[in-house]
Amino acid sequence: MVKVRFAPSPTGYLHVGSARTALFNWLFARHEGGQFFLRVEDTDLIRSKPEFLEEIIASLKWLGLNWDNTTLEYQSKRLEKYRAKAEELLQRGVAYKDGEAIIFKVTPGQIISFDDVVHGPVQFNTLDIKDQVLIKSDGMPTYNFACVIDDSDFGITHVIRGDDHISNTPKQILLYQTMNLPIPKFVHIPLILGTDRSRLSKRHGATSIQEYKNAGYLPDAMVNFLSLLGWSPGGDREILPIEEIIKEFDLKRIGKTGAMFDLTKLSWMNSQYLQKMPIEQLLPLAKEALNAHGWLNGTLDPAWVAQVVELYKTRIETVEDFCKQTRGLFTDEIPFDPEAVALRLKQPGVAERLTKYAAKLEALPKWDTAGIEAACRALATELGLKAADLIHPTRVAVTGRSVGPSLFHILEVAGRDRTIPRLKSAASTLCAL
Ligand code: GLU
Repeated sequence: MVKVRFAPSPTGYLHVGSARTALFNWLFARHEGGQFFLRVEDTDLIRSKPEFLEEIIASLKWLGLNWDNTTLEYQSKRLEKYRAKAEELLQRGVAYKDGEAIIFKVTPGQIISFDDVVHGPVQFNTLDIKDQVLIKSDGMPTYNFACVIDDSDFGITHVIRGDDHISNTPKQILLYQTMNLPIPKFVHIPLILGTDRSRLSKRHGATSIQEYKNAGYLPDAMVNFLSLLGWSPGGDREILPIEEIIKEFDLKRIGKTGAMFDLTKLSWMNSQYLQKMPIEQLLPLAKEALNAHGWLNGTLDPAWVAQVVELYKTRIETVEDFCKQTRGLFTDEIPFDPEAVALRLKQPGVAERLTKYAAKLEALPKWDTAGIEAACRALATELGLKAADLIHPTRVAVTGRSVGPSLFHILEVAGRDRTIPRLKSAASTLCAL
């Protein structure tokens, strides 16, 4: 049976690159009906922190990457095992002591080769490999040593990990050979690059999964996006439900070269998922985000909140973007875009137009889209203007922005009590030339 593992070191938050590694392991296990283990590589006593582990686990759960072992494996709980194995190698004379440390002797001039599932045949000469520390003087195992013992004890069949570990692989193979253990298959997946093709780092923006979660990205969109970083199902399909990704996932289709993390594509993908999301799923997310801003007071009618979500759902990239676009509806702080104000409000004749439109709207017996639109068209005709000459400034006066859903729908949802005072206030202050 296929057995794979994700082996994070809890020395930092879950990086998008590590999340992609976890995802590829998970997808492969699910595709093959195998098992996916989570192993905590917490042997760095100084840099490992429980809060990092909590965050890594929370991020994996958020992404939906469930693992198969009910109890997690912690390397820190297996120290006896590593020491006993190192002791055996000492006894056999293939390792030696240096103070408290135990070191493996590497015989120079051997060729170590393996057939990487992604990269094909890879060769190293042991001349380039120094003697390997197995147990450090603080009693903790090194990564390469603990990794080999654990992968072997848990019967790991495929080691799927980042390209940056290729140079560790011959060191691990030497240990497998010395201890007479079966060698798993190695699958080294390409690094994730920023749009400038350099290694993805903070410089390019958010790198932890948690930041994307907080910014209002959906886990399904994130998983879909990550699955296409270095893998493709063939053709130009991009939006794929998870069942489809699992069905299509194939190690042979993993590319050799770096995969580009394109935030614009992620945002587009997220907007596609938001658009398709049933309102009963989207509404709680929107409410949670509005609440986090302190904008959802108890007096708001839940049906009205749902109306606002419906109105904006096709034009938002993230849930946070929804909050940004609708701030003027949920609060009295209208997020005026200075460019929009300059272009649409600070123009000759605009104050007068807005005042007249406010008067027409005030006289409407019924506040609905049809009436609001009819009033606009009638006034435009009266003033000898195009409807757009009223629509653009009204949108900025009421929402602060020059883009958004259909104006008449916005005004209906904004209601009489927001719309009319805002038109008047823009006319008397913002429109001043
Ligand atoms: N703890 C290692 C890392 O986070 C695991 C590497 C491996 O999968 O072997 O890079």
